[in-house]
Amino acid sequence: TLAGKQLQSLHRAQHPPAFYRNILVSSCRTGSWVGEIDHRLASGDVVAHLVRVTTIRREDESVRYLVIMLQGATSGRQLSLSTEWLANRDVLTGLPNRNLAIQRIETAITTADAPKQVGVVVINIDDFKPINDSLGHVYGDELLKAFGLRLIRCGLGSENVARLGGDEFCVLIPHLTSQDDALQVVTRIRQLEQQSYDLDAGFEVYVSVCMGVAIYPQHGDSALQLLNNADTALHEAKRAGRDSVCYYHNDMTLAAASRLELISQLRVALQNGSGLRLFYQPQVDAITGQLVGLEALIRWQHPADGLLLPDRFLGSAHDAGLMPDIDRFALQQTARQIFHWRSKGLLVVPVAVNISQQSFVAGNLLEQLQSLVGLFGLQPGDIELELTEGALLEPTPQVLTLISAINDLGIGLVIDDFGTGYSSLGYLHRFPLQKLKIDRSFVSGVEDAGDSQVITRTIVKMAQELGFGLVAEGVENARQADFLSRSGCVVHQGFWYDQALEPESVEGMLQALPSESLPE
Ligand code: C2E
Ligand code: CA
Ligand code: CA
Repeated sequence: TLAGKQLQSLHRAQHPPAFYRNILVSSCRTGSWVGEIDHRLASGDVVAHLVRVTTIRREDESVRYLVIMLQGATSGRQLSLSTEWLANRDVLTGLPNRNLAIQRIETAITTADAPKQVGVVVINIDDFKPINDSLGHVYGDELLKAFGLRLIRCGLGSENVARLGGDEFCVLIPHLTSQDDALQVVTRIRQLEQQSYDLDAGFEVYVSVCMGVAIYPQHGDSALQLLNNADTALHEAKRAGRDSVCYYHNDMTLAAASRLELISQLRVALQNGSGLRLFYQPQVDAITGQLVGLEALIRWQHPADGLLLPDRFLGSAHDAGLMPDIDRFALQQTARQIFHWRSKGLLVVPVAVNISQQSFVAGNLLEQLQSLVGLFGLQPGDIELELTEGALLEPTPQVLTLISAINDLGIGLVIDDFGTGYSSLGYLHRFPLQKLKIDRSFVSGVEDAGDSQVITRTIVKMAQELGFGLVAEGVENARQADFLSRSGCVVHQGFWYDQALEPESVEGMLQALPSESLPE
């Protein structure tokens, strides 16, 4: 009874005419088309049918007819539809999954008439993991669903949005006429960042995203290649920081290969404990000139490239999920160093260790610390942990319990890069924190009588009122040191005093500490 009918009349035109045209063009070109078509039932409900279109050709290759097979919710073949559905859909959001995204990109490529182009945008939500870990997975799921919906609603169409996995989404731009079209889509996705998500958690969440863009035919001639290259561009964007966009260019494959090599070398270094070292940068009381603390900073003696600073390898380590291993190494090494100094009869000042969000929210940090305290006889105040604001996000019961347990071990918490994150000052007082570390950007700004002076004074005042200690980092000259001291922040760290030093050099400074400050 359906024979001879038009595809769109059959489906009561739930899709724009171009959609049906595309199906026909695509199946004529490639021999088949598989996908879903929405169909409105007599009851008014819309159901999705799995549709398979196959082209039957004459001997001379001209199209004889199309065989269209429907599998629908009402056809008694529900089971086979749902297995197909599952194979092509992301269960959480109902969006097409990676599989289907690849098929659709492939279809777009094969139907793209020269000089048409096809764009693929891969999108990743910034800091999703800490959001997910601190808010709980239920809210994390809600956020993913809401985000997917907004992508569709911002005019990209449900046909062209997919969830690739985790917090990674993909948008297909089937007909690009110029790079400007891609820019428009990117801009529209960017605009989503201004809307908050009300997840029923009692507060609103804002998210930003990073995006990687690859365009057919310049950046690949298959769906897989385009997707991979968009992914490479995404990684490049993430390296640049949150809220970044990057277009693929061919050098990236080279860069990606060398990053892979770096990661595998880093894995080896972490396993053997070879090549990775901690340097220690002094923190000085600007009034007395006395050493009052140290920050442990990692360095990598690379087999070929010499001594590498963290910015050369921590980005890749983060992408490869190696930060918990780096942090474990730094904690162990610091504890061992303190034990070593103490066994030489030296006075030990607190040593701050940087802990990444990855370790703080998900690792077995507390167990590690407990075992180090036992193993190396650490005393209260020996170690401090430096966390960025992002790791704290919200004072959830889990986070608060973890911090109190760490405090109970005699280990204090410092908020690193303070003033740059998005933590709400409104709940800062609820964390049992010891110190705020004023970010380098404010310190370097205090000389040009702008906002930085006001912000720095405000941070000092706030820390005093909340009873937090203060350190300023990145102090590079006497004018900065002077301004900070006059504003009430007297503990300074920076090149004006010292760089990060080898443990042997620090030892001399510890020896020079006045012995009357030794605890009884
Ligand atoms: P950070 O925690 O903000 O560390 C301070 C960085 O500023 C260090 O760079 C330090 O050498 C640099 N610095 C110190 N004084 C000055 C100054 O007067 N002027 C300027 N321009 N810079 C100064 P470094 O050692 O390259 O570390 C960079 C970042 O890498 C650190 O930033 C920290 O986020 C991360 N990092 C370093 N070591 C570790 C580690 O063991 N574990 C983790 N998770 N992260 C680490
Ligand atoms: Ca730090
Ligand atoms: Ca810092």
